[in-house]
Amino acid sequence: MMEMRLRSLLPEACSEQRTLWIDGEWYGAADAGTFAVTSPIDASNLIVASRAQAEDADRAVRAAARAAASWASNCGTRVAVMRRISKELRRHARELGTIETLDSGRPISETTSDSVQHAAGLFDYYAGLTDKLHGSTVPMGSHATALVEREPFGVIGAISAWNYPLLNAATKIAPIIACGNAMVLKPAEQSPLVTLLLARLMQQAGLPDGVVNIITGFGPEAGAPLIVHPMVSKISFTGSTATGRRVAAAAGAALKGVVLELGGKSPLIVFDDADLPRAASAAVFSTFKNAGQTCTSCARVLVARSVVDQFAALCCATAANLRIGDPFEATTQIGPIISAEQLARVRQLTMGVDGVHPCDASYRPVHGGYFFPPTIVTKFAPDSDFARQEIFGPVMALHAFDTDEGAWQLANDTEYGLAASVWTSSLHRVERARRLLASGIVWINCVHKLSAGTPVSGHKASGLGIEYGLEAAEQYMKVKTTVIMSDGWNSPFV
Ligand code: NDP
Repeated sequence: MMEMRLRSLLPEACSEQRTLWIDGEWYGAADAGTFAVTSPIDASNLIVASRAQAEDADRAVRAAARAAASWASNCGTRVAVMRRISKELRRHARELGTIETLDSGRPISETTSDSVQHAAGLFDYYAGLTDKLHGSTVPMGSHATALVEREPFGVIGAISAWNYPLLNAATKIAPIIACGNAMVLKPAEQSPLVTLLLARLMQQAGLPDGVVNIITGFGPEAGAPLIVHPMVSKISFTGSTATGRRVAAAAGAALKGVVLELGGKSPLIVFDDADLPRAASAAVFSTFKNAGQTCTSCARVLVARSVVDQFAALCCATAANLRIGDPFEATTQIGPIISAEQLARVRQLTMGVDGVHPCDASYRPVHGGYFFPPTIVTKFAPDSDFARQEIFGPVMALHAFDTDEGAWQLANDTEYGLAASVWTSSLHRVERARRLLASGIVWINCVHKLSAGTPVSGHKASGLGIEYGLEAAEQYMKVKTTVIMSDGWNSPFV
């Protein structure tokens, strides 16, 4: 059933086990290797995809290298093509959303709207930046001038995670190509399919062949060769901190720069002067959105002890209205977890932890799917794996704090530093939050409020580098300084 739904949406070659998009054509893996892509909704097979190896990665990199110079040379073309890509995405929102829902289990109400709008918005935003990423001059006295120019790197290797497949792909592609680079993207093996339609749509929008190449497959086989390939100048990675360390080590040995967007264990801090119902809605939304599989999920909820019982009751009451089940139903808000492995990990991290399931009445898992009931936990050991590791599932942990200093200390007591959300009506606390929280984003009386222009930069073990905003684009250009003397240069040795 799921497979049938998919067939008419993907380019025909993809149904014939050719899912490597290289130089504007579909290929199978050189060794004819394949792997099954399944749907998390009911574990059914969706497609048999090509399983790229080093030889395929090399072919894709060479295609990118051939396309790079011409793409870099015409800024006007880049602006026009990227604007057309944005339009193509919006025009094909239904197809893109359906594939993403099949492949990742995200509710169709989100994949056909928010997901496509955000991805299209990224292409628009970076199209607008493309002709403004220029250099500067440095005054050097009357006879000399220094020109500081920005050049693309050439070929960038990108590797991404499974949780928001279209958005993750657009987050890499838009700034990388806006700066005049060509690239090879390896999407996550669990949810690669939406990027295949994206490839076709980008070609329809006029993207020259070879500028974006996509190789499906597994990290150690298809991703690792990109990192060490001599023609790849920089690596942009989104995924777990553990894999990010491996990627950084390999890139470091090859003396390549890396952009790493990694995991989190982000706090949502609720003070006693907060608007408690709003804060509870934020905690529920942030924890359970995309079944908890959001890197900036603020599922570590720290609450002033004087209001913690009231707050827990509000969270349970708010969560009781959530609708969990078949993501193709228009009203579903939470679908399955991405894979059997990830489900097993969530189960293992929550084993023996005393949680409540506030949505029991509305929990309608699809038979065979990887569903996990939204859970709120109030009692756990502070040093347990449950308390310290990223769960990446729909599980909220409620901690109580006694003083403001205790709240800041608890919030920062993690190896991660991706995001934080703070709920208070005190300007003093807002100022303290801004200064004291060791994280890349601090949301005050809101959560998950971002735009294409707001940089997201993981602190500590949450990453190196930036996504979104002007700052993300700057990472994909190198600086070259040319000093020109208009008058004769005299050697100091004379
Ligand atoms: P993983 O780290 O397992 O995988 C990420 C990507 O890396 C996948 O494409 C994977 O391939 C690939 N990979 C795995 N091993 C290697 C290797 N040795 N060399 C090169 N590539 C490799 O992360 P998940 O996919 O499990 O994603 C979840 C994680 O991503 C969470 O920790 C989450 O917080 C983080 N994330 C962070 C975001 C941010 O902006 N900070 C945004 C989204 C997610 P394969 O297909 O084989 O898995």
